[in-house]
Amino acid sequence: MTGSDAQALFAALAARFREERARLGELDARAGDGDHGAAMARGFAAAAETAAAHDPRDVGALFHAAGRAFMKATGGASGPLFAALFVQLGRAAAGREALAPAHLAAGLADAVALVQRMGRAEVGDKTLLDALAPAAEAAAGAQAQGAELAAALTAVAEAAREGADATRALRARRGRARWVEGGGEGHPDPGATSMALVFEVMQRAGRATNEEGAA
Ligand code: ADP
Ligand code: MG
Repeated sequence: MTGSDAQALFAALAARFREERARLGELDARAGDGDHGAAMARGFAAAAETAAAHDPRDVGALFHAAGRAFMKATGGASGPLFAALFVQLGRAAAGREALAPAHLAAGLADAVALVQRMGRAEVGDKTLLDALAPAAEAAAGAQAQGAELAAALTAVAEAAREGADATRALRARRGRARWVEGGGEGHPDPGATSMALVFEVMQRAGRATNEEGAA
């Protein structure tokens, strides 16, 4: 995934989260304060603007800058946690022309560590970590098998989707939802749902990249 592919990725993320804004807000309203969809839409609008204006030759610097822009635009609990994903992918691919499976695996592992350091959540606490941690494991597995980026992104997106779906049965032990009767049991965690969506959009972007590369 080159810098210009990453610019297209952030444009696609901004468009997708604009569409999902109401649904994610409703999910957050069930066990939180209802602002999650708006925060994500605002964050990705800013990230896409920054990415579009960034020099595409260094894909790592571009991811890093987009992550910083996301964080500045969002605030709330999830702003810095989602920003961590893009900042760490950026660090892993610093100075590179293209993001490779090794950068994906390293960036996701570092994002898990940073999210845990910031938010003190464990897997099973019904947070975005429940989608991010299996995604990181899938990235490591794909890299170990020598998979190409498109295949790695497919494995990552599937693992994140399964992890997000499984939060439905959990009770929140972190974030605002833990103060709500039942801890959101019966509804998927909004942050985990968003995390899975991010990887779904990345998978589509990776596939587009691959088709271009093959043509
Ligand atoms: P806020 O909770 O400030 O209103 P959002 O509504 O944007 O922020 O995001 C809520 C999401 O943030 C939750 O669904 C959960 O996935 C995630 N989250 C909250 N606290 C934590 C934490 N300590 N660690 C990991 N993720 C968290
Ligand atoms: Mg909220």
